[in-house]
Amino acid sequence: MGYVDRVLTELIAKNPAQPEFHQAATEVLNTIKPVIEADSSYEKAALLERLVEPERQIMFRVPWIDDNGNVQVNRGFRVQFNSAIGPYKGGLRFHPSVNLGIIKFLGFEQIFKNSLTGLPIGGGKGGSDFDPKGKSDNEVMRFCQSFMTELYRHIGADTDVPAGDIGVGGREVGYMYGQYKRITGLYEGVLTGKGLTFGGSLVRTEATGYGLVYLVEQMLNDKGMSFKGKTVVISGAGNVAVYAAEKATQLGAKVVSFSDSNGYVYDKDGVDIEYVKDLKFVRRGRLAEYTQKHSNAEYHEGKGVWNIKCDIALPCATQNELNEADAKALVANGCIAVGEGANMPSTLEAIDVFLKGGVLFAPAKAANAGGVATSALEMSQNSERLSWTFDEVDAKLKGIMINICKEMTEQAALYGMKDNFVAGANIAGFKKVAEAMMAQGIV
Ligand code: NDP
Repeated sequence: MGYVDRVLTELIAKNPAQPEFHQAATEVLNTIKPVIEADSSYEKAALLERLVEPERQIMFRVPWIDDNGNVQVNRGFRVQFNSAIGPYKGGLRFHPSVNLGIIKFLGFEQIFKNSLTGLPIGGGKGGSDFDPKGKSDNEVMRFCQSFMTELYRHIGADTDVPAGDIGVGGREVGYMYGQYKRITGLYEGVLTGKGLTFGGSLVRTEATGYGLVYLVEQMLNDKGMSFKGKTVVISGAGNVAVYAAEKATQLGAKVVSFSDSNGYVYDKDGVDIEYVKDLKFVRRGRLAEYTQKHSNAEYHEGKGVWNIKCDIALPCATQNELNEADAKALVANGCIAVGEGANMPSTLEAIDVFLKGGVLFAPAKAANAGGVATSALEMSQNSERLSWTFDEVDAKLKGIMINICKEMTEQAALYGMKDNFVAGANIAGFKKVAEAMMAQGIV
């Protein structure tokens, strides 16, 4: 058995019941095989064994009191996966599905994504099985304060800087920042995605969605195409989905769908983005309401968004939301490009269908790196005690996404896998981390 296969077999045996982590590690390790096999010093240094083992995994109790006076107990996580190239950086996810395996898959992906940005940030991820949906602001605040009362001792502006993810937006980051400051007395950039009045960066809210579209636009431009005049299907109706829709529309595309965990909207005239922003971010409502105001649109319960005919698909909801059958439906309907806004939204089988079907496929760790890249820009502004303008940050974000596209394209070609951007992105992200780990000795 070769080195990569041995490490994967051991990983699966040692971490049972963590299928998402197995999936992410299998994808990365299999695609970097040519780099690993070309240099035996990696095996001698047990580089892969160290790479797949988090530096630190923290799990903790989060007790809080709901509005009825009942005590609730959730589980908190922070996985500090790899700090070879910088302090740990990665979001916090609050969703009932959260468990250690999911946080580990996200943290593992984050290592390579952060490396791809070209900025000095290591990989980490955290969260809780707390569900903010249906909770009052006071309940969310009490939960966030309790969560930070344990987390604060493990993080810091130069050690580990969490951000948002599913279920964690400006409101939650604000509550957590307030509690961190209250406990430590430090006014430092310990979280990103903060409000603009207390150290947040312009463009951070839009960054993941905008960055996704900048990268896909570049990938299309390289083939003589663009978003202009294209029909786009987007899943999700959260932070990433909404701002991806906004930028795609600005570039001349027509976005015809959004989805949430209950169902999806199909609006053949183009979705009303401002309406969805208000619905999801202000009123915290459900997409099912969309047709009350837009009688020409259709709302369907359940899955099915990938059966809509489109030129470009942008999955922006959650992991494994797009399977082999969905991928086949997209290819059969003439889809030319897929950009992953969510983390690992496509199953391994779906990716295979895209690559074999000649679909331009931008994998998550390249395509959605704009969020963490702009978080790193927020860290820089916090360190300088300065705020940059919207245009300044946006221009830097665009430059970073174009560079990532170039890197994933070049590395794929270098290893004889032209247009396989899954391999290209993994190899480009891996090389920098591997070099830093080798240089730093056995740690
Ligand atoms: P939000 O919480 O803002 O939105 C998530 C959206 O996806 C909601 O519409 C939600 O619907 C839907 N969704 C969540 N879980 C499920 C599920 N199990 N089944 C179906 N739909 C679901 O999160 P974000 O937009 O921030 O994150 C979306 C994805 O993008 C995630 O994979 C995240 O890891 C990734 N990402 C986010 C970044 C960021 O900067 N925010 C950066 C990089 C990646 P509902 O309201 O019904 O729950």
